[in-house]
Amino acid sequence: MSLTTHPGFPRIGLKRELKRALEAHWRGEAPAAALPDTARALRARHWQLARDAGADVVPCNDFSLYDHVLDTAVLFDAIPDRYRPVFAESRLDGYFAMARGHKRGGHDLHALEMTKWFDTNYHYLVPELHAGQRFALAGDKPLAEFLEAGALGHRARPVLLGPVSLLLLSKTVDGSDRLDLLDALLPAYAELLRKLAEAGAEWVQLDEPCLVLDQDADDHAAYRKAYAALAAAGGPKVLLASYFGALGDNLALAASLPVAGLHVDLARAPQQLDAVLDALPAGRVLSAGVVDGRNVWRSRPDHVLPLLRKAHARLGDARLWLAPSCSLLHVPIDLDAETALPAERRVSMAFAKQKLEELRAYADALAGHAEAEAALQAQQARLDRQAQQPGVQNPAVRARLNALSPQASLRRSPYATRRVAQAGTLALPQLPTTTIGSFPQTDGLRQARAAHRAGKLADGDYEALLAQEIERVVRFQEGIGLDVLVHGEPERNDMVEYFGEQLDGYLFTRLGWVQSYGSRCVKPPVIWGDVARPAPMTVRWSTYAQSLTDKPMKGMLTGPVTMLQWSFVRDDLPRETVCRQIALALRDEVHDLEAAGIRAIQIDEPALREGLPLRRADWPAYLAWAVECFRITAGGVRDATQVHTHMCYSEFNDIIEAVAAMDADVISIETSRSRMELLDAFVRFRYPNGIGPGVYDIHSPRVPTPAEMQALLRKALEVLDAGQLWVNPDCGLKTRGWAEVEPALRRMVDCARQLRAGIAT
Ligand code: GLN
Ligand code: ZN
Repeated sequence: MSLTTHPGFPRIGLKRELKRALEAHWRGEAPAAALPDTARALRARHWQLARDAGADVVPCNDFSLYDHVLDTAVLFDAIPDRYRPVFAESRLDGYFAMARGHKRGGHDLHALEMTKWFDTNYHYLVPELHAGQRFALAGDKPLAEFLEAGALGHRARPVLLGPVSLLLLSKTVDGSDRLDLLDALLPAYAELLRKLAEAGAEWVQLDEPCLVLDQDADDHAAYRKAYAALAAAGGPKVLLASYFGALGDNLALAASLPVAGLHVDLARAPQQLDAVLDALPAGRVLSAGVVDGRNVWRSRPDHVLPLLRKAHARLGDARLWLAPSCSLLHVPIDLDAETALPAERRVSMAFAKQKLEELRAYADALAGHAEAEAALQAQQARLDRQAQQPGVQNPAVRARLNALSPQASLRRSPYATRRVAQAGTLALPQLPTTTIGSFPQTDGLRQARAAHRAGKLADGDYEALLAQEIERVVRFQEGIGLDVLVHGEPERNDMVEYFGEQLDGYLFTRLGWVQSYGSRCVKPPVIWGDVARPAPMTVRWSTYAQSLTDKPMKGMLTGPVTMLQWSFVRDDLPRETVCRQIALALRDEVHDLEAAGIRAIQIDEPALREGLPLRRADWPAYLAWAVECFRITAGGVRDATQVHTHMCYSEFNDIIEAVAAMDADVISIETSRSRMELLDAFVRFRYPNGIGPGVYDIHSPRVPTPAEMQALLRKALEVLDAGQLWVNPDCGLKTRGWAEVEPALRRMVDCARQLRAGIAT
């Protein structure tokens, strides 16, 4: 019978036990043994859970106290010198210093840079390397976890990030070529592999996810060299794992490497099966990633079984393994914990445990077990029935989308005309000042929201509190002289959840936590049905806020791409179709806000850039629909209505044309940390519309000095027209305290005034 296994499992625990243990450890509140004990208990529990769900072989060393890329860097001693003194005191403290920075006992170290793990919402720490870097096997984590699993009676396969992806995901601080370090790195890998073999490991999984990216000839040469060296090292059999997409033009290379098995993603890229089967050399194992490791949906037997039958016919039992497409790190652990979900939703969903059960059923069905075949048939029938449930297809939404004309994504006039109309209604000074939306979410507000959710605070009392908070924020903004005001978003817990909860087609889980980085988890909403807006969502609070002031009050919406990107999205429709549905729902909100007298509306798209596909060739298609969805949301409003957008990053070089094509009247972006240098893209492109490069870094508790803000604005004025420059912070203020926000915004407004006076004379 074919083996079932998985490339990795979530670490955080069903109830976020790891998060709690980590945070207690960091606060110094727990005894030294508490964190390792929790970690060991979680590993044991997860191995057993996988076994009980039917996995034949479990991964080990997929667990991490913070991040597996950091683990790999530390394992091979790629530790920047500044952390070494902390490591000398305690390896665990050193590890966390690299992860989170360290301020204690004379050390003041910043953390490694963190960045997105491919196109997931997981973030990894970027190892810092330099020319001449030395590596050594400096730990035994993979070995220790292998022995730990063995002692518990599990057949385990150690998982390691492969040497080429490790280097490609790192950065060098001196601009030298990362791949030049391969020769120095390989002996350390080889030593580890030998030790694993000595300890009895039959297989080791080396993850090379960079194999699904655009790779050039140098990269290919690096894989060849690396795997030739490891093959000669005398370690366990190597399973080379690719995931997050098709191998594409890297397939021939991957198939040619001297390894014993290849894992491929057949959930995102089922079309690659034929080519993979043709390319796979005789005797090699194929680990078929047939169940989606990135999503919460049950697999469709009518999709999966034909793939498996084809592979099985070519490879037989021994050479075919069944697996999820990638590590299950990206999905919640157990659907059984979602007791509050309606049965008709649950039938179509699967979390990590359920995905392993599905794999068991597929393996059994391949082996001809009638019971498993019947179970899969029943699953298919349930999925077919579920597709007919009300709400999965909303005829009104479908009809509206079908009838959508290209006109819908147009403003009535070009920007030059709108600019004049907006000057008339908004009466703004030069260098207008504004903020990004949220104001500090005080403990009082959070507690009130929690109490309201728990039914302990009556609607009326909660709403009175919100009204009071909005009034306070409005009076404050008026008092310091901001030009375009916001209501402060006190009613919102999360910018996606707040809207998702008011839209048809979304559901929310109770324990659907997914690790974002370290101890931080998110609970992404689930889009299961056609998205529609049964009633206005923000009009009430926006109009209330506007009623308190004569200054323009910005309506505040989360954009369609961000609503999509930060959710688990149904897999029976193209993502762009789901995004268009969200755009139409938000478009109604925009029109209602306008009709209610709101003159400026901000549509936040912080996730636009992170939605970029992994392969360059796929970028234009994505950007085309992403931009169109934004334009559908904003389309059709009056010329005098000012549309803002906000993106919390500064790297626009690759996407500036798309950003310009969104045609927002004003865009606010992050730039204070990069000291305006990243305005380059806007300058080179001659971006014509309003632009507010952030002058206050809200990610830092530091209150910027007036001189710093002045300098930033002057720098911006060197390259931008005074008529297009806005003055605003980097991002929303909800994570900051009033004690910082108040002086910072006062200074920001003063700076704008002084500069204005300077320009006028
Ligand atoms: N309007 C949101 C806020 O101010 C924007 C947040 C974001 O872009 N991440 O909180
Ligand atoms: Zn932001």
